[in-house]
Amino acid sequence: MVEASSVDPAALLAVAVEEARKGLAEGGVPIGAALFDRSGTLLGSGHNRRVQDDDPSMHAETSAFRAAGRRPGYADTIMVTTLSPCWYCSGLVRQFGIGEVIVGENTTFHGGQDWLAENGTRVSTLQDPECIGLMTEFIEARPELWFEDIGGEPA
Ligand SMILES: [Zn+2]
Repeated sequence: MVEASSVDPAALLAVAVEEARKGLAEGGVPIGAALFDRSGTLLGSGHNRRVQDDDPSMHAETSAFRAAGRRPGYADTIMVTTLSPCWYCSGLVRQFGIGEVIVGENTTFHGGQDWLAENGTRVSTLQDPECIGLMTEFIEARPELWFEDIGGEPA
C-alpha cells in the first residue's frame, strides 16, 4: 500500500473545476478533469467536449488523459474529476492502472467509483458544493444533453 498523497485535494480539484467552467462557457457539458503525478505536478487537464467536438467519447477524464500524453505507467498518478467517473472513464482508470481518483461530487451522478475502490484504486469524494452546483444547474437547464452524455435516460 502506497502512502496517501500529501498534496491538497482541494487544490487539485480547483484545476478540474476551471476546466468544467471552460466547458460550460463553450456550451458543453460542465465536467472537468486533470491528471497529476503524486507530487501534485499537473500532467494534463481537459473537459467534456462531446458537444464541441461532436465526439461522444470525449469525456473529461479521457480528455485529461489524452492531454497528458504517453507515460510508462500510471500507478503514481492521480485523476481528479469534478464528477463521479462514468463506467467508460472508470474503465480507462483500470485499464491504465491509475493509482488514485479524487471525485468532486457523486450526488448528481454515481458512476463506477465503488468498483474502482473495490479493485484497489484509492478513491476519495469531496462533495464539493461548486461541483454539485455546476451539475445541478446543468441537468435542470439541459436534461436532454446530459442524458445523451451517459447513454440515455435511466430506465
Ligand atoms: Zn466518462
